[in-house]
Amino acid sequence: MIERTASCACGQLRVVCRGEPKSVSLCHCRECQRRSGGPFGVAAFFAAEAVTMAGEASVYRRPSDTGFDVAHRFCPACGSTVWWEAMRKPGLVAVALGAFADPDFPGPTQAVRGETRHRWLPQGLG
Ligand SMILES: [Zn+2]
Ligand SMILES: [Zn+2]
Repeated sequence: MIERTASCACGQLRVVCRGEPKSVSLCHCRECQRRSGGPFGVAAFFAAEAVTMAGEASVYRRPSDTGFDVAHRFCPACGSTVWWEAMRKPGLVAVALGAFADPDFPGPTQAVRGETRHRWLPQGLG
C-alpha cells in the first residue's frame, strides 16, 4: 500500500497517510485563501484510521458557514497548516495537499466555492 508523508515547512509536524485519498477537494473560499496564502486551498481527505500524526501541533478552530467548526492543526514553530478536521465530516482528516510536496500527488476530484474564485485563474483550475 502506498504511503505518503505530509510535513510542515520545518519538518517537525508530520502526518503519514496510507493508501490513496478518498477525495481531493479544491476550495476557492476566503478561509482557504487566508489559511494557505494562495488563491485557493486543496485538501486531500483520508479516513482517520489511515493517517498517523507525529510532532507538536497547535490548533486554530474556526466556524464555517455550514454551521460546523473546522479545526486546523499547524506547526507552532513554522506556522504551516498540515491537516484539519471538519466537524461536518467526522472520521475524515483533511491534509494540506502542498504539505506532501509531491508533483505526482493525485489532482482535485472536485472544486467548490466558485463564487470567490480568483478571476485570473486559468480555465480548468476549478
Ligand atoms: Zn514546522
Ligand atoms: Zn475553503
